[in-house]
Amino acid sequence: MSHVFHRHLKQHYPTAVGGEGPYLIDAEGRRYLDASGGAAVSCLGHSDAEVIGAIQQQVERLAYAHTSFFTNEPMEALADFLVERAPQGLSSVYFVSGGSEAIEAALKMARQYFIERGDPQRRHLIARRQSYHGNTLGALATGGNAWRRRQFEPLLVEVSHVSPCYAYRGQAEDETPEAYGERLAAELEGEIQRLGPETVMAFVAEPVVGATLGAVPAVPGYFKRVREICDRHGILLILDEVMCGMGRTGSLFAAEQEGVSPDLVTIAKGLGAGYQPIGATLVSEGIRAAIAEGSGFFQHGHTYIGHATACAAALAVQRAIESRDLLPRVQRLGEGLQRRLEERFGEHPHVGDIRGRGLFRGIELVADRNDKTPFDPARKLHAAIKRTAMDHGLMCYPMGGTLDGQRGDHILLAPPFILEESHLDELVDKLDATLRAVL
Ligand code: PLP
Repeated sequence: MSHVFHRHLKQHYPTAVGGEGPYLIDAEGRRYLDASGGAAVSCLGHSDAEVIGAIQQQVERLAYAHTSFFTNEPMEALADFLVERAPQGLSSVYFVSGGSEAIEAALKMARQYFIERGDPQRRHLIARRQSYHGNTLGALATGGNAWRRRQFEPLLVEVSHVSPCYAYRGQAEDETPEAYGERLAAELEGEIQRLGPETVMAFVAEPVVGATLGAVPAVPGYFKRVREICDRHGILLILDEVMCGMGRTGSLFAAEQEGVSPDLVTIAKGLGAGYQPIGATLVSEGIRAAIAEGSGFFQHGHTYIGHATACAAALAVQRAIESRDLLPRVQRLGEGLQRRLEERFGEHPHVGDIRGRGLFRGIELVADRNDKTPFDPARKLHAAIKRTAMDHGLMCYPMGGTLDGQRGDHILLAPPFILEESHLDELVDKLDATLRAVL
């Protein structure tokens, strides 16, 4: 019996013992094509010599120094690297150990910013339904995934949730994408008015919705309208790029493709690409200055913030993405993946939608593609797909749907940026075999 408190206590997990490029290898020698990067993490695959070398060097020099005593070189260098490439106005970076922590820091920073400015009445948070921002209590409260929240509701602070931008199910047949975006913007405006604009602190959204909906980008212009509304009311815009950031959608920050500059951006996953646990919150100059010129102290912190080895790993990952010119490759491979998915599954009776950006793609599965009826969640299709895909030597990231028509089951694909075209064929063949076995 394993003494590990595993995610699923009734399930057997193979033991991962090695990695080779985009493959993971288990103790029995079976190889799995990592078509989801775990959960959109492993963007450089599993055996990058440069990153491993950078980690080794850093550990030999200095593994860790507590940030209440020291700064450290890799943390400073990584902050410089990110700020130089970040959307306009973001001028500093707060380093944490993962995505949920990055969201918690963003929420607290937003709140402290308004207190420093003498606006303590700003405390309401607006986010969107069908979103995921992490599993710690503040992040979970912010997310709008009913299944993840359900049993913890009594522990969650109140957050308003408006509709996601989810054209496949939300856009009416006689509506243009622009009109749909406008309708959603009006809904946000309405919620701000209901709460009282002077009491709203921030609006939080994923530019491309990952785990809950499966790689759903917003319609053109939606985020520009959101930015305008936030600006008009003095509300902070927090973009959660934990999953969709760091090149995953073909630009370093997903917000670049929306043409907006957020006040706070959270990143994690692809930042360290799984070589070390690391996340970060990028902070606008206005927020930094308000805190620096006010109390001068952000009242938050964890033991491992700014971990030197984690920062060195992330710096090596990000330098590798840039020096190897991987972002154009993400765009090219992403288009190739979309084309292959459409060719193979475009007419499939249970595939309702194929979508995404870059190497971040989602396939929505439905019982009936004509009326978009989801499968009965009791069927636990996602679990069967995950298991069967593993049997076929494929890692993908399926998620369950809801019977109320809010979303269908979907499969999220987020493979490493280092794939060759032949891996895309292997991916689609294995996924095809999986769906034939399950559906
Ligand atoms: N935000 C988004 C958009 C995510 O997808 C996730 C994780 O999937 C998180 C936050 C939480 O990140 P972590 O699991 O690293 O705490």
